[in-house]
Amino acid sequence: LFAAHPSTGDLFIYPELALIIGNIYVYIISPKYRLNMQLISVNKISERVFDYAFKPNRTFNFEPGQYLEWTLPRSKTDSRGNRRTFSIASSPTENLVHMGVKFYDPSSSYKKALKAMKPGDKLYAGQLAGDFILPYDKSKPLIFVAGGIGITPFRSMLKYLIDNHQNRKMTLFYLVSDPSEIAYKDVLGQAQKIGLKIIFVGSKLDSADKFNEELLKNNIKNISEARYYVSGPSTMVDDTKRLLKNMKISRNNIVTDHFSGY
Ligand SMILES: Cc1cc2nc3c(=O)[nH]c(=O)nc-3n(C[C@H](O)[C@H](O)[C@H](O)COP(=O)(O)OP(=O)(O)OC[C@H]3O[C@@H](n4cnc5c(N)ncnc54)[C@H](O)[C@@H]3O)c2cc1C
Repeated sequence: LFAAHPSTGDLFIYPELALIIGNIYVYIISPKYRLNMQLISVNKISERVFDYAFKPNRTFNFEPGQYLEWTLPRSKTDSRGNRRTFSIASSPTENLVHMGVKFYDPSSSYKKALKAMKPGDKLYAGQLAGDFILPYDKSKPLIFVAGGIGITPFRSMLKYLIDNHQNRKMTLFYLVSDPSEIAYKDVLGQAQKIGLKIIFVGSKLDSADKFNEELLKNNIKNISEARYYVSGPSTMVDDTKRLLKNMKISRNNIVTDHFSGY
């Protein structure tokens, strides 16, 4: 599995092999079957976001922060089809699987069908994936940057840490245009008791209008020590990543989740 470096003699693992091992691990922990998800409840949790709670037909392993591909059973859809990717908003410590969905007007036929779902109806889910997961090192300070609906994987991580009584050094920069857009307030409130500091950006709630270098430096002691998780619409994620790179944050400490499709 390992080879000695020709000049230093240090042992190293071939990158290709590390990739294969990673893929095998994901294959082992992924559901290789289609999950039947029965809708239990739908709750409006912010101005345009609804939380869907499903009962899966079997238990499955996942890491907080991962996503699933969700398929509508009916086939009549617009050209964009009957499948979408949504982060799992719940934690593996919860019995029901949650997803938080943002609705727009006009909606795609997929979202219209989602809106018409009643408790008892079913969706199918599979293709579990995503490396937007908590670091192995529990002492690493965590900086979460959520752009609007990008809050969903953080809800999963925070609920997981709350349920496992794990205190962490963590800060959430939550970019929302209006206080009515803030979702999952209950979990965010509980997470403050295990160390989460929340800074609302652009919501008219706090003084921060913009996520920039000054805001980061004013709130984070050692900016190069932390691991940064950035989640939300693609342009917001790209802009934030660029900013962090310009601030000389190591790319190893930046993890991103692009909510492409908008
Ligand atoms: C890893 C990952 C995780 C994600 N997690 C989430 C999540 O947790 N929650 C979430 O809400 N989304 C999430 N997304 C995004 C999600 O997959 C959808 O792409 C997104 O919600 C858009 O949905 P929609 O295509 O049904 O369009 P809609 O949301 O209905 O519409 C989006 C925009 O497109 C316009 N539009 C609608 N239909 C059409 C059409 N036929 N042609 C052109 N424009 C159209 C609408 O007017 C609107 O402006 C995630 C994406 C990825 C890749």
